[in-house]
This record gives sequence, C-alpha cells and structure tokens, in this order.
Amino acid sequence: MDPGFIMGHEAIGIVDVVGPSVKNFRVGDRVVISAVISCGSCDYCQRKEMSLCDRTNSDPDGAQEKLYGHRLGGLFGYSKQLGGFDGCQASHVRVPIADVNLLKIPASLPNEQAICLADIACTAWHGNELANVQKDDTVVVWGCGPVGLLIAYFAKFRGAKLVVSIDEIPYRLQYAKEKAGADIVIDRSNTDVVKKIQELIPGGPDKCIDASAFRYARSLAHKAMRAVGLETDTSEVVNEMITVCRKGKDCSSFIGVLYL
Ligand SMILES: [Zn+2]
Repeated sequence: MDPGFIMGHEAIGIVDVVGPSVKNFRVGDRVVISAVISCGSCDYCQRKEMSLCDRTNSDPDGAQEKLYGHRLGGLFGYSKQLGGFDGCQASHVRVPIADVNLLKIPASLPNEQAICLADIACTAWHGNELANVQKDDTVVVWGCGPVGLLIAYFAKFRGAKLVVSIDEIPYRLQYAKEKAGADIVIDRSNTDVVKKIQELIPGGPDKCIDASAFRYARSLAHKAMRAVGLETDTSEVVNEMITVCRKGKDCSSFIGVLYL
C-alpha cells in the first residue's frame, strides 16, 4: 500500500457522471457500490461467483497468488493485493464497469439499511449459503463483528433451531444475544471452545461458520507475527470448526473461503 492510498470498500452514493458505455444508470440515481469489482463476463462472473472474477485484479506484486495460490477479483480500498483500486472514503468514487458493480436503491430503503448491501449483509448471507443453513439446523458462528452478528441473524431467519455465537469482547456477545438472535454465547477468552460446544451440542453442530479468521489466534508464533506486522492466516479457528462439526456436515469460513 502506497502513501495516499484511499481506504474503504462499503459505500452508497448519488451518480454524478456517467461513462459512455454505461447503459443502466443515470445522473442522480441513488446507488449501492459493490465492494467487489467484477467484470461480469469471465467464467467466474458468468457463474455468479463475482468475488472470484478473473479479470479485475491485476495483483501487481503477485502477493495474493503467493499467499493463497489464486487471485480474488478486485476490491475497493484493499491494497495492491486486491487490484490497487482506491477506496470509497472520498467525495467521489470512479466505479469501473458500473452496469455490473452498482445497484439502484429503491426510494423506500433508507441509507442506513442500503449501506449493508455493499458488503456486510451479502457476506453474511453468503456464509449461510456456503454452510447450507437449513430449518432446524444447529449453527455455531465464530466472531461477533458486524458480519458474524448478521450471520447469526440470518441463520435464525432461515429457521435454525439453535445458534451459538463466539467472541471474546463482552459487548459484542451481549449484542449477539440481545439483537442478533444468538441463543447461547461463548466468551472464548475464558472458555475451552471445543469442550464447551461438545457439551452444549452432543454429536456436534450441523453447521459451523467462521467470521473471525485470524483475529482469534492464540499461538505465540502468531502473536509475534502480529507484533511485527507480518502475520499470515492461522488455522486455529478452522481446526476448532472441523473438530466440533457433526460428522458429514458443513463448515464455511471466510479465510480464503474454505468450504468443506
Ligand atoms: Zn469476471
């Protein structure tokens, strides 16, 4: 990331100027800007796997391919690793391939709700889709940030009979229980997560969804990596998920999108 790079990948706005190739939007339209930048025409985009777009992330340093083996599509405000696109914390944003990457906002939808469609609500719903959350499932969610909270909320919306949310920050756990529909919360700062889930759900949960990634690493090696700014992803949460999940059931993770 170079000095002056603009951060931010969740935005709504009013269309101010329209490029010559844009067909579906006019000046004055109120729109959500997709966090992910997709071309709309590559093999991945044709399969509606827009965040995996093959064309919009030039990954100029090759960092993502070195770390993960493949490149994701481009993303606003997320460093060279995701294409080097300046982000949305700006007065004006140029949106490439606008017909694919903008969504018109209905007049009835307030800004505070529409903004969730730029990333958080879609990501949370996608987590439920990857884990195939169904009616009467038992679901465990790692992480109670905005995405983890909405994953819990959507799991209940889809009919899950039990949702357990895990975090280590008390106010997040309280919010998960009071507002996001979590039936049980686990504070991982003082709890053996695997043992606790095995006690709560004999045989294991039907669905395990990770929305915490490397944020809950415990190992000394990882703490050292974080301290010097050279951290990589960790498998600690994934190991917990695989250990507790009911035999033959589903785990989904946002660590490079692991889908088991
Ligand atoms: Zn594409």
